[in-house]
Amino acid sequence: MKKITILGATGSIGASTLSVIEHNRDDFSVYALAAHSNVDKMYQLCLKWQPEYAVMADHASALQLQKKLAFIKSPTSVLAGMDGLCEISSSPKVDMVMAAIVGSSGLLPTMAAVKAGKRILLANKESLVMSGQFFIDAAKQYGAQILPVDSEHNAIFQCLSQNVQADIGYCDLQANGVESILLTGSGGPFRYSDISTLPQMTPEMAIAHPNWSMGPKISVDSATMMNKGLEFIEAKWLFNARQDQLKVLIHPQSVIHSMVQYNDGSVIAQLGEPDMCTPIALSMSYPNRILSGVKSLDFTQLAELTFLAPDMSRYPCLQLAIDACYTGQHATTAINAANEVSVQAFLDRKLKFTDIAIVNDKIMSKVCRLSTLSTESLESLLELDRIARIYAEELVAERT
Ligand code: NAD
Ligand code: MG
Repeated sequence: MKKITILGATGSIGASTLSVIEHNRDDFSVYALAAHSNVDKMYQLCLKWQPEYAVMADHASALQLQKKLAFIKSPTSVLAGMDGLCEISSSPKVDMVMAAIVGSSGLLPTMAAVKAGKRILLANKESLVMSGQFFIDAAKQYGAQILPVDSEHNAIFQCLSQNVQADIGYCDLQANGVESILLTGSGGPFRYSDISTLPQMTPEMAIAHPNWSMGPKISVDSATMMNKGLEFIEAKWLFNARQDQLKVLIHPQSVIHSMVQYNDGSVIAQLGEPDMCTPIALSMSYPNRILSGVKSLDFTQLAELTFLAPDMSRYPCLQLAIDACYTGQHATTAINAANEVSVQAFLDRKLKFTDIAIVNDKIMSKVCRLSTLSTESLESLLELDRIARIYAEELVAERT
């Protein structure tokens, strides 16, 4: 029986992870659940899953949850804040940690799991984008096993040989016959919209993703294709890829989840229904397979599969993130922080859809000009993230 901690239990990935556990109750049990502040949802989850611990990042919410659980004499103990998140990620009782907090708040608890040598089911791509080499080196130093949950990276992982799978972060793609990784993306809800209409797009329109059901931040990132940009950076670190080994391809149907092109002309792709339970199940069971609850793909019901190159004038955030990827850690930490602020401001109707890229661009350039900022330690990366957020908040305030 493997014990799992779920960071981000009340979110979309959290729900899918619990659904996979539901199908495999003899093999997995929930050790701890964590979320930000949704007390009612967490209370329901505690009733159903009876974890040893529930953690609310927000202290007031933790107190409320504790009272509600004490009232029914629940066996679940409640912890609060970052210390609580790190405790349930690193406990000796835990085998694997689902890292599914959204955004940079996921970095420290995920890193706590890395330093405790856990199996990390990595959904929180922002933590890898923010800390890159640092994250990969820590995983090696502490013997943590990183399993990509992001559907594209999980697909790529499945298309690579065992040699490469065993050497995440350090593998030599070329020596293993890989010519390039084809990172596919749907292009989001505005892929066919007239570019001149993009400034008028509302949060409701941006969140209505054509194929996947996801949390609000990643849904907006899919509409700008910043998500694919973050995934480009994520792929660089996971697969130790050079810029010329990574290509982005728009595939509107989201049936192929990514591909690997080999130097003998072969292309290996991973296909399936667009349902995160598939990559989550593999990350939990690797190298074996378990039931995920996802129906099998019915090829007779598929219409055509189409592909096109991304038009960077429609997706400036994608180009910015690709540029950041090979500029350096300052650039990727800064663009990630700026993007969290600009996306939230768009969701709060303080920015236009097209302003997201403008804010991201300006903040990335500004931070890259500050030669005094170090990227040598986790603390300095968090400081860089903090400064980039302050600049981004100021810029948002100027534009509203
Ligand atoms: P979501 O918004 O549905 O859920 C986010 C979760 O994080 C919630 O449980 C929330 O309570 C928790 N959270 C937020 N801030 C927190 C904080 N400061 N401390 C503790 N918990 C906090 O998001 P999601 O769609 O489930 O995405 C989660 C992560 O997985 C993101 O990094 C996203 O990029 C990645 N991801 C999601 C999908 C998907 O299909 N949803 C696919 C690939 C990758
Ligand atoms: Mg993805």
